[in-house]
Amino acid sequence: MGVRAYPVVLPVDGVQKLIDLLRGRGLPVVGPTPRDGVIVHAPITSLADLPTGTGDDQAPGRYRLRARGDGALFGYAVPASSWKHLFLPPREVLLGDGPATDPVPVALFGVRSCDLAALDLHDRALLRRPAVDVRYARRRQGTVVVAVTCTEPSAMCFCAGLRTGPEPSAGYDVRLTELTDGGHRFLAVPGTPLGEDLLAEAGWDPAAARDVEAAADAVRDAAGRMRRAPRLDGLREDLYGAADLPHWEQVGSRCLACAGCTLVCPTCFCTTVEDTSGVRGEDARRIRVWDSCFTAAFSYLHGGSVRESIASRYRQWITHKFATWTDQFGVLGCVGCGRCTTWCPAGIDLLAELAAVRGLSAPPGDRRVTDGTETG
Ligand code: SF4
Ligand code: SF4
Repeated sequence: MGVRAYPVVLPVDGVQKLIDLLRGRGLPVVGPTPRDGVIVHAPITSLADLPTGTGDDQAPGRYRLRARGDGALFGYAVPASSWKHLFLPPREVLLGDGPATDPVPVALFGVRSCDLAALDLHDRALLRRPAVDVRYARRRQGTVVVAVTCTEPSAMCFCAGLRTGPEPSAGYDVRLTELTDGGHRFLAVPGTPLGEDLLAEAGWDPAAARDVEAAADAVRDAAGRMRRAPRLDGLREDLYGAADLPHWEQVGSRCLACAGCTLVCPTCFCTTVEDTSGVRGEDARRIRVWDSCFTAAFSYLHGGSVRESIASRYRQWITHKFATWTDQFGVLGCVGCGRCTTWCPAGIDLLAELAAVRGLSAPPGDRRVTDGTETG
């Protein structure tokens, strides 16, 4: 195989070998797989579990899979689910009898750049602070990541504008870039010694200049197709200054307070605890469940909810993502995956609302709401 010089090229069966190698090391492999008309992240054992030849169409409040007519393994944008349920389960017993939750390290297969950035945000909030979430820490320990460059962004994606994609730049053991021109293959780069071992065992070929150029073209093309992005200059100050804007009532009148956006968001990590006890006093449990700033109970203090109106909850969500998160963690709380817009049943477009709140011109190609009138 010659002297190691990265990047290298893996054939399609080399990618299957990667899965086999991970499983051979005792790691459950979780990756994208089609289920009920969407793509989710769930356990996989082979390439046959991937949504081969599948693309997706995404728009505000709309998600559809479609046949691509080729054999691409990663020809779609971010799946419906992120990865957060693996490390921060939607529901887990903290005290009392419950399912055994001895965590085992897991291999994440096919992680997009935006979702890698979201994992890093969760690590900042739950691991790299004086108060560590011990359950999250145990589940995160030993995670192996096979990342994939996103070459098919959806119309809702804006990672390029936030510098969180489309090419993963850190946080992976192996990075793959799928190439379908002139032969189906993957440009591969290790990010850790483990990744280097995995690639060596999977069997690679040296990369030709045309492979490297094709991958660079694919990244440029994907970034160029993302025509939406928030303007970042002065964003935090604008949001802090917009607390009393009448527009919050306008978006609040459309928002259903269903919490869907926070559940699909890969960076949202709020939880609450519920205490339950059996009528005979023999069973008591404390359960941690995902919570959302869109519920009235979320801001309940003594006597009532601090944010009674839906308008105030929407304001809280967007202000946290793009302003207060920066004060808390030093980065934005958004990675540009677009899920909150795609999965909003009311079709509320996060970027359009940001643009409307700031009273700025939307980026080219964006649709925005100003005073209730959509403009092109
Ligand atoms: S706020 Fe929306 S676009 Fe940003 S990370 Fe969350 S789901 Fe993705
Ligand atoms: S913005 Fe959309 S997804 Fe979020 S709570 Fe409102 S209606 Fe639900």
